[in-house]
Amino acid sequence: MAPETAGNETQALSNLLQENRRFEPPADLAAAANVTAAAYDEAAADRLAFWEGAAERLTWAKRWDKTLEWNPPFAKWFVGGELNVAYNCVDRHVEEGRGDKVAYYWEGEPEGDTRVLTYNDLKTEVAKAANALQELGVGKGDRVAVYMPMIPELPIAMLACARIGAIHSVVFGGFSAQALKSRIDDADAKLVITSDGGYRRGKPSALKPTVDEAVAECPQVEHVLVVRRTGEDVAIGEKDIWWHDLVDRQSDQHTAVPHDAEDPLYILYTSGTTGRPKGILHTTGGYLTQTAWTHHAVFDLKPETDIYWCTADIGWVTGHSYIVYGPLANGATSVIYEGTPDTPHRGRFWEIVQKYKVTLLYTAPTAIRTFMKWGDDIPAKYDMSSLRVLGSVGEPINPEAYVWYREHIGGERCPVVDTWWQTETGAVMISPLPGVTAAKPGAAMRPLPGIVADVVDDQGNSVPNGGGGFLVVREPWPSMLRTIWGDDQRYIDTYWSRFEGMYFPGDGAKKDEDGDLWLLGRVDDVMLVSGHNISTTEVESALVSHPKVAEAAVVGATDPVTGQGIVAFVILRGSVEESDDIAADLRNHVAKTLGPIAKPRQILVVPELPKTRSGKIMRRLLRDVAENRSIGDVTTLADSTVMNLISEKLPSAKQED
Ligand code: ATP
Ligand code: MG
Repeated sequence: MAPETAGNETQALSNLLQENRRFEPPADLAAAANVTAAAYDEAAADRLAFWEGAAERLTWAKRWDKTLEWNPPFAKWFVGGELNVAYNCVDRHVEEGRGDKVAYYWEGEPEGDTRVLTYNDLKTEVAKAANALQELGVGKGDRVAVYMPMIPELPIAMLACARIGAIHSVVFGGFSAQALKSRIDDADAKLVITSDGGYRRGKPSALKPTVDEAVAECPQVEHVLVVRRTGEDVAIGEKDIWWHDLVDRQSDQHTAVPHDAEDPLYILYTSGTTGRPKGILHTTGGYLTQTAWTHHAVFDLKPETDIYWCTADIGWVTGHSYIVYGPLANGATSVIYEGTPDTPHRGRFWEIVQKYKVTLLYTAPTAIRTFMKWGDDIPAKYDMSSLRVLGSVGEPINPEAYVWYREHIGGERCPVVDTWWQTETGAVMISPLPGVTAAKPGAAMRPLPGIVADVVDDQGNSVPNGGGGFLVVREPWPSMLRTIWGDDQRYIDTYWSRFEGMYFPGDGAKKDEDGDLWLLGRVDDVMLVSGHNISTTEVESALVSHPKVAEAAVVGATDPVTGQGIVAFVILRGSVEESDDIAADLRNHVAKTLGPIAKPRQILVVPELPKTRSGKIMRRLLRDVAENRSIGDVTTLADSTVMNLISEKLPSAKQED
């Protein structure tokens, strides 16, 4: 947390934004919803029995003896139970007669480059890949680093690891050699699975040279398994084996042995918005239970009829839980798209929705704001009447972006579920239920059934309705991280030391007058202005509610008078010209929306914002800019040139007052 907010005198977070819009669930959706309001009561009456019910949706080789063993902060769920994750995600659907059902419609970035994988196909491919890994000497508990584009071999590789009990560590395909090397080292991986490259922005983008650079310094890596995707020339060295040479000749039969419910499933490094990435460890039974149940509940998934598309990258936790494990455990049909939303044109996403008749769409606020910026006329060209539920994840969704998403993508008929969770929680924790909740734009609303979350003040006392403070989780949940890989102490210090007996995710939140939850961003980002703790999220949302603004990022910069002054970086909507009075206009708009205390000291119009690979704004870099410091670590930035673009804008900064 920021030094400014440390200490006992810290007041709770200010609650500035008022929002009165409300959207009732559609009647037909509510009438046929997978989960009704009764689930909240059931879970409140007996939380562990509720999660047992969710676990029973899976196929267990051996039933657990004990639902939860809790030695704070170390949890074991479904103790003594045994299951195989890959069997649950693939084989059981085939055995139950759904082998011909499509698991993935894969859409490559080059137009017309598509593949369809049924559950039968997936079973064959996963079995072969599992046999291949075993031939390479990979066994239970070994770590496998996976550095791949969004191609079907990526989920196949993950499932093959899960099947044999190897622990995958997927590293986002856009990270540098240095980032890859440090993750390979931290997990001590003996195998790397990669490809020659993938397609991005209309051209092949190589991956193998980056792996070569990383692996040259990782003697513990015994083999590199390489999928041919782009067909570009790559160096094939001693450790390298082509996927098609090894995997294609394997038997398509592979027996899935059961694993303990608490055997590790994967390590995933957090996106590094706030600091050195942490290797988050997830295990088997609890993780699959909660990802599958939440996918069923939050998206109201009807596996027989829905076509589900999550646009996240699999290299991020959203892709792990809601492209691979949750949807497959539920027997869903999903779309996977390899490329970027503007290739070859800015309507690509909506073309895909139209083509596959997507019914459930899950994307991020950063993408939604980009689509807003590009203009309403683009989605308007496509038939998106198939859509029925829309999801958002990754950052607080500004009310304006939410309403735009509902209107221009959802045709005003689809509920929007704003899902709060993080790499550490493994699965959604706080979210509306589409058939139950009268949702408010910008609010994640209530903890899901079985989740006990709260907002507390600096002393750990629950804040009353209308108050703001720190989000906490009071009881363990099945898909919680078990530790930070190799560093139990960092696990304890990071998540369990701020408040006695409570999990602290690092996010601020408020309860509105109805007790509904609004996420206010990271507490590190909270600004202290003239004695008020103001969240960046509320000021950003106020800026985005101005018709000329597409995106905004707000930081607190040291100010001799007020402690911190609010500095806003804004991107204007597509058709808007930058004019001299825009800064004053926006400052007044914020003052009118939130009150004079939240009026930015300075507004900078910029062409881009610094974002992580998962699309999150990196405010700490903007703080460096606002305080004229040299810019900190940019290694987890999606595009490191963005900071130059922003710095160039600085001399023309419109300083007011
Ligand atoms: P690091 O912890 O290394 O900085 P990260 O937190 O960006 O990385 P993730 O685990 O992908 O990596 O992100 C989780 C965070 O994203 C949450 O803690 C929260 O701040 C934010 N977030 C995710 N979903 C929402 C949401 N619906 N509303 C508000 N914030 C959200
Ligand atoms: Mg985090």
